[in-house]
Amino acid sequence: MTDLAVLAAGFGVIPLAAIILYTVTTRVLAYREAAWGFLAGVLGFLGVSHAMAVVLVNHSLLGDLVAATVLSFVGLAIGAGIAWLLLDGPFIQTEPNKILWAAVAFLALHSFGDGLVLGGDFTGAFLPTLRVDAVTVTATIAHRFAEGCLVVVPAIWAAWRPRPAFAVLFASLASIPAAYAPGWIFASFGFSPIPRALSTFLAGMEATVGLMLLVRGFIPIAAADRGTRWPVWIAIGFIAVSLVHFFVE
Ligand SMILES: [Zn+2]
Repeated sequence: MTDLAVLAAGFGVIPLAAIILYTVTTRVLAYREAAWGFLAGVLGFLGVSHAMAVVLVNHSLLGDLVAATVLSFVGLAIGAGIAWLLLDGPFIQTEPNKILWAAVAFLALHSFGDGLVLGGDFTGAFLPTLRVDAVTVTATIAHRFAEGCLVVVPAIWAAWRPRPAFAVLFASLASIPAAYAPGWIFASFGFSPIPRALSTFLAGMEATVGLMLLVRGFIPIAAADRGTRWPVWIAIGFIAVSLVHFFVE
């Protein structure tokens, strides 16, 4: 029997390993097109494609069309507002820090969504349908590690020291309470649309935060050298993280 606590902890903690990129800081900075391009592809997939797919699927499954539409719309609008405040609002002064904080917000939202998916498999009367084997574990590690890189590379670029960079990576731990949320909701309300509604709302926020971070942060930085390889790196990142998702959520 797979233990939710073990899986949830693993899920939450793996992105912290991305701090290892601090051992190759000069390379991360030197290979700007490759590093930012690859991560732009990852972000494009996770934020725009994957999160929006979650919104669309849930929208069709929620039952009440008006409620589903309002929920999705509000999530998308709030995400755009948060991204705007972080990227162009008055609170964060320097450009690299704006990108870094938006990336931290994205990691937190995405991790919470990942946790909900994980916890959903453990809800109710069903036995966990989760497959745990070498392939799914490897794919999960790759997937969550890449998500940690979405924060660590901006942190290196913003010249943050490893210690505070490690601290903001803790946003990934949002997946741990999220993994328990479907179980708690089930225990309190029985079968209810609440977990699906929550996931729709959060995925909507994630989609617009991801979109704005992508077009305002990752793509411009990848393209800043006027190189020609960054679009290819974006495609490679996008395809690589898609492949990973054929094996795990
Ligand atoms: Zn994920």
